[in-house]
Amino acid sequence: MLYDRLKQSVARAARAQSRLAVVFIDLDNFKFINDNLGHDAGDQLLKTVAGRIAGSIRKLDTVARLGGDEFVLILNDLDSEEGLWTLLERIRLKTSQPVLLQEHSCNVSASMGVALYPRDGVDEQTLLRHADVAMYAAKAAGKDNLHFFTGKLDQQSDERFTLEREMRLALEQDGFSVAYQPKFDRHGKMVGVEALARWHHAQLGDIGPDRFIPVAEECGLILPLTMSILRKASMAIARYNRMAASSISLAVNLSPRLFERDHLCRELASALADSGLSPDLLELEITESLLLGDTEHIISQMQELQGWGAQLAMDDFGTGYSSLAYLVRFPLGIIKIDRSLVAGIESNEQQRMVVSAVVTLGRNLGKTVVAEGVETAEQLQLLREMECCQYQGFGLSVPLSEAALHGRLQQEAACCG
Ligand code: C2E
Ligand code: CA
Ligand code: CA
Repeated sequence: MLYDRLKQSVARAARAQSRLAVVFIDLDNFKFINDNLGHDAGDQLLKTVAGRIAGSIRKLDTVARLGGDEFVLILNDLDSEEGLWTLLERIRLKTSQPVLLQEHSCNVSASMGVALYPRDGVDEQTLLRHADVAMYAAKAAGKDNLHFFTGKLDQQSDERFTLEREMRLALEQDGFSVAYQPKFDRHGKMVGVEALARWHHAQLGDIGPDRFIPVAEECGLILPLTMSILRKASMAIARYNRMAASSISLAVNLSPRLFERDHLCRELASALADSGLSPDLLELEITESLLLGDTEHIISQMQELQGWGAQLAMDDFGTGYSSLAYLVRFPLGIIKIDRSLVAGIESNEQQRMVVSAVVTLGRNLGKTVVAEGVETAEQLQLLREMECCQYQGFGLSVPLSEAALHGRLQQEAACCG
């Protein structure tokens, strides 16, 4: 029905030489409400929102549900872009009012993508596809956003689809590998490693985690990817620990997306099981965006992981809000000071004081403080004077292959006995 309506609208606009807009609307928190308050609440939310959208458009416009929590609008006969803005803003304001569901007042927000006829496409398929691409960009830019289609977005979305397709293949063919970046204690002894995902593509070359992690998060591949990294890295570290009778720890990065799952702890435990690595040697690095989310569910997941024996590390501390309240509220055993803070400590006295204060605070709270991105001997010296516990960075060691890590550990064992 949507398709036919759009076809008619396009034909009419072509005859009248007028403009029309196709708008994709996707609710931002539908899945969360559906999962936590149940399907009835989810249905009621969809009905309420559908009613609000229908109530804020004009008679000549069309609204259709695409399935799930996506809606499409066809806005006909637009006289100007300002007129369109006013209309979209009205829809956004109306839909974003809280909805009462089972006595909970729930906030609703929507991401919207807009494609215009004739500027962004002259046929139905192209207009729908471009509105979808714009909606994706709106979501990626943060929730409650509105984006217009541009040619640049189309190119980015082609790249994204290519990456997604290639990642699925790589996961099937075991194409991801792990680099191990060592962490050292105050005496220069290697005490642990951080596992960093690596992807070498035969045609596209090396693709960095900053490019593929966001795509993996968006398209649901972050769980298999994390499991593959954890499985490989725990095997490698357990093997080494057995051989050298040592107890090197393993840190793995966990995307906030993984905490949306109910049985994260069980899933991680099953990935670790084959290796025989004790969960006591496992450190799970999380970022602050996780702690901004739905806290009760997250705290209980964190406690479960802690009860299992793993330690939780606050990654990139010193970026974003870095609320000190996190350090008390959440069960975090480790704080990793972000490299952007460490970078300035030789030259910037105030920054040095901030880092020193974080080190002291962490220590007094009984946490292990790790300095990231240590690049120079001078930085290392200053951090040692502050009595920071652990150090990681290119100045001490770049991320290593498993073979190079073994070599380095053996060298260390030979020289220090
Ligand atoms: P991160 O967790 O902060 O990891 C540290 C990043 O800083 C690594 O980049 C590392 O190579 C780099 N680095 C380490 N020491 C230095 C230094 O002294 N100077 C500079 N300039 N950089 C240094 P990489 O491997 O490119 O990873 C980037 C980010 O991608 C990571 O940041 C992490 O957030 C994410 N990532 C990597 N592997 C995974 C993974 O398996 N899962 C998830 N969820 N994220 C991952
Ligand atoms: Ca990390
Ligand atoms: Ca970090």
